[in-house]
Amino acid sequence: MDSIDVDELRPPERLLMGPGPSETHPRVLAAFGTPPVGHLDPGFVEMMDETQELLRATLGTENEWTIPVSGTGSAAMEAAIANLVAPGDTAVVPGNGYFGDRMAEMVRRAGGEVAVVETAWGEPLDPAAVRDACATHDPDVVGVVHAETSTGVLQPSMEEITAAAHDHGALVVADCVTSLGGVEFRMDEWGVDVAYSAGQKCLSCPPGASPLSVNDAAMEKILDRDEAVRSWYLDLSLLDEYWGDERAYHHTAPVNNVYALREALRLVQEEGLEARWQRHRRFSAALQAGLWELGLEPVVDENARLPSLTTARLPDGLTPGAVVATMRDDHNVEIATGLGAFADEAVRIGCMGHGARRGPILETLGALGETLV
Ligand code: PLP
Repeated sequence: MDSIDVDELRPPERLLMGPGPSETHPRVLAAFGTPPVGHLDPGFVEMMDETQELLRATLGTENEWTIPVSGTGSAAMEAAIANLVAPGDTAVVPGNGYFGDRMAEMVRRAGGEVAVVETAWGEPLDPAAVRDACATHDPDVVGVVHAETSTGVLQPSMEEITAAAHDHGALVVADCVTSLGGVEFRMDEWGVDVAYSAGQKCLSCPPGASPLSVNDAAMEKILDRDEAVRSWYLDLSLLDEYWGDERAYHHTAPVNNVYALREALRLVQEEGLEARWQRHRRFSAALQAGLWELGLEPVVDENARLPSLTTARLPDGLTPGAVVATMRDDHNVEIATGLGAFADEAVRIGCMGHGARRGPILETLGALGETLV
């Protein structure tokens, strides 16, 4: 048989300033490239403990049940929803973005009923609307997207939403994929029962190991289910054998992804979580000031604008697809088009993790300035 002749790996060199993956920190890349050990090696087990401890600190939680799920953010998301939602349960989900829609789809596949809090894309949920939905639908679960990457909306008033859910006996699952490690998120203080995230946003990791944390109330519900979770791979009662005290084989953990996540979380500790939130705020303010100066306009009101992802309307006559292509092909800078209601008029620009620095922000603004003329 003829051999297949494929060139040596040489991916294009891009500055990653889109909705993720973000720029990877060199120390994280070095950790990722470290030779793997066995996933049950005592040395690795120690690193699992350390990674769990670091994750708790970054999420702001004491939850014992805090792990990196093997897979991207959607795997952690599906682990949260598929375990928490039992067939016949009702879940209230946000209707203000693409990832709220994905949550709804996962609820349906888990056998649950969906009640959507209808909200315009580009706006945060109104806690009063969540309270009304809880009164009307008596849900078992309330979902909220803390940082909606499709629109650039940061959900303020998280505590009002968790209070509304808890007053009706529902558990809260929060998506903090685009906020964790870059935007203030306080799991326990805000009363979030289950939170999930991803590595490739504000943590500046390659995608592949994704944070998940479950509190005692949620874990009790999960362990008390009548019907087994429909996903074997993401069944938390089985994953407990590996990430809990036993450390017994369930599946082969993506060892190098855990190395990378551990290093990324170490960097969070070195910088300080609050200092990191401030850095993201500072550089996103600089990015946004530059964007408005170039003639773009904000899609989201200032009170709900996400530091880690800005959605910006282009001046008349420019199409997002063409701007994104020129940025990539002529300047090697990755940004993204808007989604849904904003697909034809806006671009999305990230300010995440290792990209939330002067150099990447100036390069992005410079390239955009050249693209728009
Ligand atoms: N939730 C939000 C808010 C996201 O932005 C993303 C990805 O961009 C996901 C969930 C899904 O994560 P992944 O693409 O890593 O599977």
